[in-house]
Amino acid sequence: MLVDTFQRPLKDLRISVTDRCNFRCTYCMPFDEYVWIAKHEILSFEEIERLARVFIGLGVERIRLTGGEPLLRKDLHRLVERLAALEGLQDLCLTTNGALLAEQAPLLKAAGLKRINLSLDTLDPEKFKRIVKRGDLAKVLEGLFAARDQGFHPIKINAVLERGVNDDEIISLVEFSRSHGFGIRFIEYMDVGNSNNWKSDKMVSKEEILERIRAAFPMTEVGREQGRAPAVDYRFADGGGDFGVIASVTEPFCGGCSRARLTADGKFVTCLFSEVGHDLKTPMRAGASDRELRDRVVSIWNRRSDRYSESRLEALHSQQGYRAEDHKKIEMISLGG
Ligand code: SAM
Ligand code: SF4
Ligand code: SF4
Repeated sequence: MLVDTFQRPLKDLRISVTDRCNFRCTYCMPFDEYVWIAKHEILSFEEIERLARVFIGLGVERIRLTGGEPLLRKDLHRLVERLAALEGLQDLCLTTNGALLAEQAPLLKAAGLKRINLSLDTLDPEKFKRIVKRGDLAKVLEGLFAARDQGFHPIKINAVLERGVNDDEIISLVEFSRSHGFGIRFIEYMDVGNSNNWKSDKMVSKEEILERIRAAFPMTEVGREQGRAPAVDYRFADGGGDFGVIASVTEPFCGGCSRARLTADGKFVTCLFSEVGHDLKTPMRAGASDRELRDRVVSIWNRRSDRYSESRLEALHSQQGYRAEDHKKIEMISLGG
């Protein structure tokens, strides 16, 4: 089995299909303009499928399509169709901001997609506009319910909490998801990319999130799916469903991290906080065989020693502290979540 220097296997691949986005979330990509990947550099569906096969051959079991905003990629359902048919793939999921989901949900369902994660940080239309800067809450909610009507299950809402912005909505977001049968996962605000001006006091910790939810809804801890998923799950005692918390900052889970990322221009990235990716597109377009692509992935993963979030926590607790601006990273919008 392919493992890295900490004996972690490669099981999950997050494929970014575009770096473009119709939102400009303050916590992810607040700038209006950016040096976007040139069109000819973007992997075609054939190229993505080919690399997906190589990764599955090395042990990848789960693929998530992400971006940027993946639904901006023309005919995304055609890619879903190709990936859903791949032998050995156990799970195919999409992470979206939902703005274009209402029109695409039927095509995605017919193409074989089963699961959707949808980002929704507030139920207040004005606050929504302040957070995402472009876009409209009503369209996102329309997309969410259209996906439910198509039979996608489970649908999980991802909510990034930022102190002073939407931490007053923890309970209303829980109530909303419980009442409509959606799962919800609260995500600790992270210092992804280089542009969100992250400070640790903007982050609402897992402990604080749980304290607030527990006061309203008794619950029990279920744990991490397969013991190593990013989210710790909880079940409401009254049978009203479950929720999760992704505590990347206060309880890092690097020890079990089996996740890799593929950027829209074919760079293989071994950590969400990596400074650089490893180019697979150039050798592929130069005629590399599957065997050669496979060997390249193996040699990169074998050398992998990423544990960024664990090091950040050590630094946060140290005398010198942690300054996000001292660490240059690939932008989240290029990497996918
Ligand atoms: N555009 C899609 C969306 O927003 O769902 C997919 C890409 S987005 C980069 C993937 C996930 O990353 C989203 O759920 C988003 O909330 C999360 N994310 C972005 N910036 C984050 C940050 N600073 N801290 C925690 N999560 C973040
Ligand atoms: Fe927001 Fe997702 Fe776009 Fe980032 S990629 S700005 S999280 S919608
Ligand atoms: Fe994995 Fe890097 Fe996140 Fe740690 S910081 S869990 S190694 S992606």
